Amino acid sequence: YGDPSQKIDYVFKVVLIGDSAVGKSQILARFARNEFSLDSKATIGVEFQTRTLVIEHKSVKAQIWDTAGQERYRAVTSAYYRGAVGAMLVYDITKRQSFDHIPRWLEELRSHADKNIVIIMIGNKTDLEDQRAVPTEDAKEFAQKEGLFFLETSALEATNVENAFLTVLTEIFNIVN
Ligand code: GDP
Ligand code: MG
Repeated sequence: YGDPSQKIDYVFKVVLIGDSAVGKSQILARFARNEFSLDSKATIGVEFQTRTLVIEHKSVKAQIWDTAGQERYRAVTSAYYRGAVGAMLVYDITKRQSFDHIPRWLEELRSHADKNIVIIMIGNKTDLEDQRAVPTEDAKEFAQKEGLFFLETSALEATNVENAFLTVLTEIFNIVN
């Protein structure tokens, strides 16, 4: 997971947003440390985590910010969004409400973040397919309409987590190059 002595060509700040308990902290733990926990309390208070990866022969340090339990509406401050070039908008495929709140989070992003921010919408917990409450097609349609990237993930099974981060980071990379 990255050689700490290597030189860094880019630092990209990416923010995680979405309702409480959708799996934001576990998605980050999976990406940054390849860890997963069914008990997420351990991650409270952590502001951001980093992982350095190589994109087209350049080293890119991803600085991923996690809300430390500030998910109540409008509680995430503008400092959280400041300087962010990417955003991951997460819902839980087993919780319809977390998907219904996505437009709210988008509105918040669009009022606080840079207008060119790269956004991916993520439907997490695909390992709970038998409890699915949000059809993939509904989400895909919404993402298309709003111009968002879209993937479904499982932090538990490590499905598509790497892919989701790479999608955002590569798009940002292409914009700045
Ligand atoms: P956050 O509030 O959005 O940061 O959500 P957490 O990352 O704290 O996760 C909330 C709960 O969902 C925890 O019990 C996690 O273990 C669980 N969780 C997170 N991701 C997944 C997943 O992909 N599958 C399943 N089954 N549970 C998950
Ligand atoms: Mg969390």
